[in-house]
Amino acid sequence: MDKQELVCISCPMGCRITIEKDETNSLGWKVAGNVCKRGTEYAIKEVTNPTRMVTSTVRINGSHLPRLPVRTDKPIPKDRINECMKLINSITVTSPVKMGQTLIDNLFGTDAKIIATRSM
Ligand code: SF4
Repeated sequence: MDKQELVCISCPMGCRITIEKDETNSLGWKVAGNVCKRGTEYAIKEVTNPTRMVTSTVRINGSHLPRLPVRTDKPIPKDRINECMKLINSITVTSPVKMGQTLIDNLFGTDAKIIATRSM
């Protein structure tokens, strides 16, 4: 793999990081440009198994607002985000919903869930 350039999204500093394969390094990667070790972890994960938290809203019936804010309870594989959004857009929940309540369990057969981020 050639050298890749990334922007670390682990904190607002947004360090510009480069990463390339390096078999001489114990991690197997040469990472540069990061201010802290979270940048190293982020860069390696980003090139081997990129994941993201997903935040969105779902339709809700019987509430004073038409949409309920939701999120995944943990990061999911980046290549499943579109599928996740289709699922989120396909459901309608009914009030009352409590903050933290599970709305979709076993997302894609994983232990990830879609949960409500406020009571409504
Ligand atoms: S490398 Fe560290 S300081 Fe830089 S953006 Fe990532 S978390 Fe923040």
